[in-house]
Amino acid sequence: PPVIGVCGCVAQQEGSSLLERSPSVGFVLGPGQIGRVGEAVASVRRGERAVLTDFDAEREFNFNTIFRKSETRGMVTVVEGCNEFCTFCIVPYTRGREVSRTLDEVLAEVRFLAASGLKEVELLGQTINAYSCPSSGAVFADLLESVAAVPGIHRVRYITSHPRHFDDRLIDVIASNPTVSRYLHLPFQAGSNRILKKMHRRYTREDYLELIQRLRDAVPDINLSTDVIVGFPGESEGDFKQTLDLLERIRFGQVFAFAFSPRPRTPAARYEGMVEEETKKTRLHRLFEITDRISSELNQDLIGATVPVLIDGDSRRDSRHWQGRGDDNRVVNFPKTGREAIGDIVEVRIERAGAHSLAGHALIDDARLPVLSDVS
Ligand code: SF4
Repeated sequence: PPVIGVCGCVAQQEGSSLLERSPSVGFVLGPGQIGRVGEAVASVRRGERAVLTDFDAEREFNFNTIFRKSETRGMVTVVEGCNEFCTFCIVPYTRGREVSRTLDEVLAEVRFLAASGLKEVELLGQTINAYSCPSSGAVFADLLESVAAVPGIHRVRYITSHPRHFDDRLIDVIASNPTVSRYLHLPFQAGSNRILKKMHRRYTREDYLELIQRLRDAVPDINLSTDVIVGFPGESEGDFKQTLDLLERIRFGQVFAFAFSPRPRTPAARYEGMVEEETKKTRLHRLFEITDRISSELNQDLIGATVPVLIDGDSRRDSRHWQGRGDDNRVVNFPKTGREAIGDIVEVRIERAGAHSLAGHALIDDARLPVLSDVS
């Protein structure tokens, strides 16, 4: 019979109460114990339910490569946990304090992924740019530079950056290294300084705007995405309008916006001034109207451009087309020509644009634009 386990931050927080509430759940596993998933399944098969939610503050990484179903992209965790304690977030409680892997270990894993034929690597961490190698003291800019130099790796993405840890050296590494993706996910969460303070984000809207300016001066083609929380406790119409104003000013390629939802045992769950659900819904709707318009406009601007697309697989809508991503992480669909395959990087001329994807034609018949997978 199948074994049912609940894993992740909620599992960490709820622990054995999940077993009490649900007789069909066999095990509960916190994020720090993911390397013990086999052990958990084995105990359920022996007839014992398991709760594995401890984590050691002095812990080291207990897992290696994350295998996801992808022929093109590998994911490598470089930092686990978080020290930021944003008042709405459970991560510091459920995943513990920040722990970085050594640079050597990360590089060994990236080399392994490159040797397996993967062209793109995505580095993962809750606050990835707070990375600090426990043995050499290398910072995230050093790590990014070293990973980008691994032979066979054509693209390096990284997620998630915190504005507070973004320095000029990191901007330089992105600007001077074409293997580093022209995509940056940089959550700002709220456009009002009053709300940012209540969130304990430790930057102001002015800091954020100034950082984006420095980034765009150095990397003009960077595609930015962000996270926004709508309806944080005490958010007034004026605060919300400041969020909309920031979105209009910065013009993100993609915005992940969520209505505030209180997480148990976080400070914000006890704050006064909870915003009505109806108001949150309306605000989210207003926000998406703006962000969809901006994404469409930014995508329209790319019509006529030629972008290098790493082919991920068949297009979801039509198997006669490929789907892939540009080096700025935008989704691009184009008709198959029969000469390219999954994992190739192909130049595509963009002809159409929507809010969420681009479409065009491969230029591989053009002698000046060969399929880049032939190039080492
Ligand atoms: Fe850390 Fe991000 Fe959670 Fe803030 S929102 S505590 S930075 S994981």
